[in-house]
Amino acid sequence: MKTRISLPLQMAIGMLLGILAGIAAPAVGFDPAWFKPIGQLFINLIRMVVVPLVIATIIAGAASVGDVSKLGRVASKTLIYYFATTAIAVTIGLILANLVAPGEGLNLAKDGLQAKAASSPKLVDVFLNIVPLNPVDSMSKGNMLQVIFFAMLFGFGLSAVGERGKTVLSFFDGCGEVMIKVTNIVMIYAPIGVFGLIAFTVASHGLAVLLPLVKVIGVVYVACIFHVLICYIPLIRVCGLSPATFLRMISAPVMIAFTTCSSAAALSTNLIQVQKLGASKPVSSFSIPLGNTINMDGTAVYMGVVAVFVAELYGIPLPLDKQFEVILVGVLASIGTVGVPGAGLLMSTIVFTQVGIPLEGIAIVAGIDRILDMCRTSVNVLGDATGAIVVSRWEGDFDPAKGALFAEEEEKR
Ligand code: ASP
Repeated sequence: MKTRISLPLQMAIGMLLGILAGIAAPAVGFDPAWFKPIGQLFINLIRMVVVPLVIATIIAGAASVGDVSKLGRVASKTLIYYFATTAIAVTIGLILANLVAPGEGLNLAKDGLQAKAASSPKLVDVFLNIVPLNPVDSMSKGNMLQVIFFAMLFGFGLSAVGERGKTVLSFFDGCGEVMIKVTNIVMIYAPIGVFGLIAFTVASHGLAVLLPLVKVIGVVYVACIFHVLICYIPLIRVCGLSPATFLRMISAPVMIAFTTCSSAAALSTNLIQVQKLGASKPVSSFSIPLGNTINMDGTAVYMGVVAVFVAELYGIPLPLDKQFEVILVGVLASIGTVGVPGAGLLMSTIVFTQVGIPLEGIAIVAGIDRILDMCRTSVNVLGDATGAIVVSRWEGDFDPAKGALFAEEEEKR
């Protein structure tokens, strides 16, 4: 269906109208409880999509890289890079959010939620709980960590059976595409859902709850820039390439990412530019498309920040073991995020569910999601480009002089 106003704008409008309705409701004696089902419907729709979407995309994704014996070292090196940088990204998001405490001072529902927080599992249980006793049970309960774990193993197994698994692979591939379409359908309701959730929140808690959003935007942007500075720039330097040249050459795909909020849209330009920079052709043509699907450092930074923010808003304590859980689930959830606008918002529900943060918190950040998405998508794309260069270098197949020469020629043109 064609709409003239873009979805993020519709969501922002929904949020604005929700704020107004939330302010007006108590003044005119309107019961805020009427807003609740409008928002709850949106939450139910999101939850409905997540399990099948994640299963399908992760199985198909893992199956396409699972043939490690064939792809050899390149696959393992690429995966090591992706996991390491993504874990660093969530950690940076968490640390900065803890330092700034963007949601502190506000407490939306402390009393009702404390009992839940007190019974949080221990670190060792977190690890043990990753393995599902019954995957179907995990799916029905929506235990995402267990679902992701099972889906990854299933994907690797699928690729190991080779030819005989082809039908199953194309089935899950197809399911993934269908679920993306279903997501798009669900998101048509997002502006109304956001309206309901925000109106209910403002009507029951007052406008003060929205002020920390400015802080959240600041924390996400600073954390993303920090990740680029402490992670990508030193790695690019180690590879013998000047960071200025790198950033100049990658600015085209980053601009596409920033404006479209879709790393998938920036894929082809990113691939072309890293090869111009001297990245090995076999490495980059494997790692860039793979990274586009599973390497989402910007999204991971964002997940760390919003987890802390919403937990603070609801007065839910996040002790170290919980924060460790956020890192673990954040890495996996960002792997499952597809490179389309707003996907990270949807996937952050996985982190919320895992650590017991109310999903209603999504509504509070949804209205500003586009602003956050622009930044996290740019970092997602930069992370893939850095990965292609690092792994090329690691494979001894990187020529920084070629990149410098190309950059010089582009400058002259
Ligand atoms: N929009 C992001 C991307 O395309 C995903 C996200 O929403 O975090 O990379």
